Amino acid sequence: MKKIKLHTQIFIGLILGVIVGLVFGEKATIIEPIGTIFLRLITMIVVPLVLVSLMLGTASLGDLRKLGRIGIKTIVYFSITTMIAISIGLFLANVVKPGAGLNEEVKAELYKNYESTAQVGIEQMEEKPSAIDVLVNIVPTNPIKTLVEGNMLQVIFLALLFGTILTLIKREKSEILIKFLDGLNDAIIQVVHIAMRLAPYGVMALIASVIGRYGVNILVTLLKYSLVVVGGLLIYTVSINSLSLKILGRMSPLKFLKATKDAMVIAFSTSSSNAALPVSMESVEHIGISREYSSFVIPLGATINMDGTALYQGVAAIFIAQIYGIPLAFMDQVTIVLMATLASVGAAGVPAAGIITLAMVLKQIGIPLEGIALILGVDRFLDMCRTTTNIIGDMTCSVVIKESEEKNRK
Ligand code: ASP
Repeated sequence: MKKIKLHTQIFIGLILGVIVGLVFGEKATIIEPIGTIFLRLITMIVVPLVLVSLMLGTASLGDLRKLGRIGIKTIVYFSITTMIAISIGLFLANVVKPGAGLNEEVKAELYKNYESTAQVGIEQMEEKPSAIDVLVNIVPTNPIKTLVEGNMLQVIFLALLFGTILTLIKREKSEILIKFLDGLNDAIIQVVHIAMRLAPYGVMALIASVIGRYGVNILVTLLKYSLVVVGGLLIYTVSINSLSLKILGRMSPLKFLKATKDAMVIAFSTSSSNAALPVSMESVEHIGISREYSSFVIPLGATINMDGTALYQGVAAIFIAQIYGIPLAFMDQVTIVLMATLASVGAAGVPAAGIITLAMVLKQIGIPLEGIALILGVDRFLDMCRTTTNIIGDMTCSVVIKESEEKNRK
């Protein structure tokens, strides 16, 4: 019998998860530990993978100017695409008006169910450090602590620093270290492969327990809102990424889709850009994006580039304002674009990070933070969708950067 390909198995896992969740409801959460083990296995390798592969990537670039150029291009690309994403979200939310005419009873019910959870989120957001602190904190005081805590921006900083240092010391010494790191990198990648064998089961268990726990009924209550978010994500993901791939990356979007669909399914089922990171890096390698680029662009993207989250925050802010009957002037909408850009940068690549930093956007324009309670019920599903958009943006950027660098070289 012909062996079923891994990505087909993962897809089957996804469908089975939906069925099991629908049939068994709450009881489906019994199999959640299988999903959690899978999730822990891939999360476990994120820090070592980013550290080692980015050190190697930087060392192999061997040129600080090139590193700086890639860094600037990446950040410019991330910022522009994020703003386009929010603008699409705002446009749709203003035209469709998902918040107009939400039934008062439904509103009261949603409040009652999610008020306390929303409160926790609001408190977490209020503890967030200022922008300057965030910048200062990129430089670690204790590298071991950085690795233990898995602070991604600090890990990226460490890797860039040590990778650069490897190019500054004597060749005969750096060679030994680079050889060692290369071997270590191969070993870490093997862990990714082992984890991926478990992916079909992990994905099934994760999806079944999400559907079992949250049900699909709530989606119906907030149908218009959910449709605007998902519709916006689809429009953005398909159009902007395809255009970027074709025009800037000179790659067929279909070829890209084929190579990266495993990463998309993992992002969808885990709701975490970080968890999908090892698979995202692996996937783009299949379309010729070497570690030189992917080891920098993808971890940085998983940490700060969240197009899907930004789009969703734009829609959510307008939705809540519409429910409260708060009119938003043009300048308020411009503020939303700026704040949602920052809030998406501030959101970590973990589940539900975006709804916490949404509080920052709402606060800035004076929309009641309690409004978060209204959308919490559907958040898990929307998180799955926006995370998928987030990582597609990161992978697309790696293609664009590679093409633009190679063009320079020609
Ligand atoms: N879960 C998202 C991610 O990991 C962040 C968010 O909550 O929007 O990319």
